[in-house]
Amino acid sequence: MTQIVKMKGMNKYFGKLHVLKDIDLTVEQGEVVVIIGASGSGKSTLIRCVNGLEEYESGSLEVDNHPLAPKGGNQNSLAEIRKEVGMVFQQFNLFPHLTVKKNIMLAPMKVKRTAEVVANATAERLLERVGIGNQADKYPSQLSGGQQQRVAIARALAMEPRLMLFDEPTSALDPEMIGEVLDVMRELAREGMTMMVVTHEMGFAREVADRVIYIHEGQIVEEGKPDEVFDNPQNERTQAFLSRVL
Ligand code: ADP
Ligand code: MG
Repeated sequence: MTQIVKMKGMNKYFGKLHVLKDIDLTVEQGEVVVIIGASGSGKSTLIRCVNGLEEYESGSLEVDNHPLAPKGGNQNSLAEIRKEVGMVFQQFNLFPHLTVKKNIMLAPMKVKRTAEVVANATAERLLERVGIGNQADKYPSQLSGGQQQRVAIARALAMEPRLMLFDEPTSALDPEMIGEVLDVMRELAREGMTMMVVTHEMGFAREVADRVIYIHEGQIVEEGKPDEVFDNPQNERTQAFLSRVL
């Protein structure tokens, strides 16, 4: 088995606030790991560490065999890791002045020096794949939230990532658009993409996750298969959290 993410004894502080506490977490290739927990528990910080959007203070991290040292250490692999890790945020963060298709073509052309004709073909294929092939020449503001988030997913996929990070990708969406984004993610998982997903969509977690991780105040206090965690949580914090959200 190839381990795509290896975190060992990771600690992260914001000033005096100890946000991540001795995190041990590995993600195997093709695995879908869903991270749940209360607001402020450290979910975003955890996945932002994986692509170096946040630095950490101690412990170790490897992403697809590229080591990324704690703050002050060797960060030489950061560019390589960023190329291999796609991220989708709650806010879609599309470039408003670029068409949908240009949004998708930009990173491959800039970062990977992909030829324009190739990037164009890839963008068209990916837009078909996320179900909006007919929106290629529109601007983000002309799309619904659900469509914009699907563009954001396509944009991340254009870099051919080894790992996809999702941070509450449906939390900013109107309820009727949540399903179309979850459908795209479900399909990605089915095709074997390695994914770390922070979400409050417990139905999605139950159905798609290989493993569910519950974080409480910066610590992993429970993890297991979805059925184990949802139907028979062992930790009383997990029980209390689930009784609030399920
Ligand atoms: P979650 O995603 O689970 O809601 P976060 O990872 O965003 O939690 O935040 C964890 C804790 O770290 C919270 O107490 C939050 O206020 C704090 N925090 C997050 N980002 C920063 C930052 N850039 N500076 C200072 N504190 C932060
Ligand atoms: Mg968050």
